[in-house]
Amino acid sequence: MSLPWLADNIRQFIPLVNEQRIPHAILLSAARGMGKVELAKEMAQLAMCENITEDGACFRCSACELIKAGNHTDLTVIKAENAVIKVSQIRKLTSDVVLTASKNQHKVIIIQDAEKMNPSSANALLKTLEEPPQKVLIILTTNEIGQLLPTIKSRCVKITIQSTSNHIANQWLTSQIESDIDGIDFALFLSDNSPLLAYSILHNNVSEDVKIMVKDMEALQQQSVALLDVCKKWYSNNWHYNLNYISVILLNHLLLKNGLLSENKSESHIKINIQANKILTFIKSIHQFSKRLELPLKGELQLEKLLLMWKNTPSSTID
Ligand SMILES: [Zn+2]
Repeated sequence: MSLPWLADNIRQFIPLVNEQRIPHAILLSAARGMGKVELAKEMAQLAMCENITEDGACFRCSACELIKAGNHTDLTVIKAENAVIKVSQIRKLTSDVVLTASKNQHKVIIIQDAEKMNPSSANALLKTLEEPPQKVLIILTTNEIGQLLPTIKSRCVKITIQSTSNHIANQWLTSQIESDIDGIDFALFLSDNSPLLAYSILHNNVSEDVKIMVKDMEALQQQSVALLDVCKKWYSNNWHYNLNYISVILLNHLLLKNGLLSENKSESHIKINIQANKILTFIKSIHQFSKRLELPLKGELQLEKLLLMWKNTPSSTID
């Protein structure tokens, strides 16, 4: 199943394959939930399909079948282990894949969340990019392109997945999952219009949890609930993984307060009046907290610190 908002990216890639102009390296960037990995895999299939036409992959040849089954040996996907892509992972791919490149079909390496390479991994990859092997396509995906080495970026063809219209995202979600219009709207709001993220919000019923979190945050400010109770509830329900959505709500609140948004379509008001700079500081802390979540640290303690910070953020009158 192709994701409709990736159609243009795919259409532009097909002639490169047909005219044997596949680049050595592609850097795919987009916001979270826009389908970077899906697009990378579609590109891999196009590069590896044995009967590609100008319409795209055949979906019938052995390469297409193996990719569909997820076990094509010429397609390697590298992901971070404990939030880091290690140099051993990059070296392994250079020895295993690059040195055994065949003459006919392409081999494809997808490096997911490439910003998670540490300096040694990035340098190891750079060496490969400096002397690109024939018939190997390396696809890096990232939602934090600014964190990649300029020398790596300059050796890749950069492709961005443009944000999709609310209409297309809405239509796609309606075809994929049962939900009322308000539910879809709210999920798209929380995900900043990223369809796959909105899908996961709907699929996992995250919206209701987020609404309770907002109520808890109001109660914390009003001192009507105990910090440790909120912390326990959030942590035992894994709600701390939803904090990114809280920062979307806070940011939206800020834009509304400052007249930068005309109308609030969602029901995501947080009934607290806090100075803009304090809200921004808190959003920054959420961001740092979310980064630390990938590390094996004491998450509950970190969450407690974050909520304490929120509780102690001075607010003025309540709406
Ligand atoms: Zn095929």
